[in-house]
Amino acid sequence: MDIKFLNATVITQNGRRELLCNAGVAVEGTRIAAVGTSAEIARAYAQLPTVDATGKALMPGLVNAHTHVVLLVLRGTVEDMGAEAIYGYMTPISFAMTQDERRAIALLGCIEALRSGTTTIVEPFRHVVTYADAMAGTGMRLWFSESCADALTLKIRSGIYEFDQAWGETFLERETALIEGFHDTHGGRVQCQVAAHAPDNCSPWMLRKLNDLRDKHGLRRTVHMAQSKGEVAQVQRYAGCTPAQYLERNDWLGPDVVGAHWTYCTDDDVSLLAKHGVHMAHCAANSSRRGPHAAPLAKILDAGVNVALGTDNMTEDMFQAMTIGSIVHRGSYGGGTNPQPQALLDGATRNGALSLGVLDQIGSIEAGKKADLAVIDLDGPSMRPQINLASNLVHYGHPGMVESVMVDGEFLMRDGKVLCLDEKEVARNAQAATGGAWRRLHEKNPDLPLPDSLRAD
Ligand SMILES: [Zn+2]
Repeated sequence: MDIKFLNATVITQNGRRELLCNAGVAVEGTRIAAVGTSAEIARAYAQLPTVDATGKALMPGLVNAHTHVVLLVLRGTVEDMGAEAIYGYMTPISFAMTQDERRAIALLGCIEALRSGTTTIVEPFRHVVTYADAMAGTGMRLWFSESCADALTLKIRSGIYEFDQAWGETFLERETALIEGFHDTHGGRVQCQVAAHAPDNCSPWMLRKLNDLRDKHGLRRTVHMAQSKGEVAQVQRYAGCTPAQYLERNDWLGPDVVGAHWTYCTDDDVSLLAKHGVHMAHCAANSSRRGPHAAPLAKILDAGVNVALGTDNMTEDMFQAMTIGSIVHRGSYGGGTNPQPQALLDGATRNGALSLGVLDQIGSIEAGKKADLAVIDLDGPSMRPQINLASNLVHYGHPGMVESVMVDGEFLMRDGKVLCLDEKEVARNAQAATGGAWRRLHEKNPDLPLPDSLRAD
């Protein structure tokens, strides 16, 4: 749409990290046409409708560099269980869910993301092709991939690792359908990647197949890496090396790769990954639910790795990602005030864009870039007094202060109201889908107990 914002504080996140006061931003079509003083924008774009942004900040839409929206179905359960969650719950429930249940939960995730000022979601997961159109219909910027594996992932929770190419082919078929149906569609707003689920469940055959798909379609790659002690132990048993070394041996490291987590990386792994220009998707909030995330963040940051922030499972709140990310990063340095808030704000904006290879398109508010932005209320109590806005946002920011969100120049949320979805209906559908999914999970896996609150009357 064509519109101009006047009298705003603009958190540009440009190369100089300029914070502009009493500024204006003009939007024409899908792009930011100009950024300047209010007077300049008012004069040059007099014909455009005006939003008076007095008392508000415009910030680039946040980029969630790694998440699985469908796993909101587990919210309020595995965070507080001692059980192994990845193969114990996340994998089996993803197969137990119906297409309608995945879609219902995915839309809940989109609403939570929008309400936290997020405009871009990176979604590697299973069966994405069954709910991709529902997410694309919201108007959000999306990066999809089928998280492929050729180990029989449903057996791993029983301690059995078996590779099966026929099983792996089912993932590759879904990935191919996803690429053919969604890559570079919706005016470029929807893109695809290739995803290897993790080094312990992808054989060299699967990694080669995924590289073939990358080459054929010119895609970028993502992988979970050194996420659990079980993964590290299995790769050691199977290949006699660390997950990072295993990926290098199979031509799976490079500047087009985003690795999520790095939790149990060794110092040598960090050097190896940095040397190859691999990006990190750091999901500090989710990874810290059972205690502060153990990844060697200080070494990773000192090695110059591009660290992009994500939410991973059970939440889409990017403010939590920044707040807890700050605590975890500083903790990794033994406490203190390094890194400063600006680095976390970069992690939620520019670094995510860089990890996707699109920093020239999104991640900052600059003329020529996509009009992906969030309008923040600066008069809410958590934003006052205002001395250092980046500090306020990182330490005290929360979704309640996000007023409006625009993607590709279109408002998806405006003045506190989500425009692209019916929030109440989505919440009801998601609750019903959660009950259905858990009951089916329990039927298929009687050893996984059904939460009392979800028992049918
Ligand atoms: Zn993940």
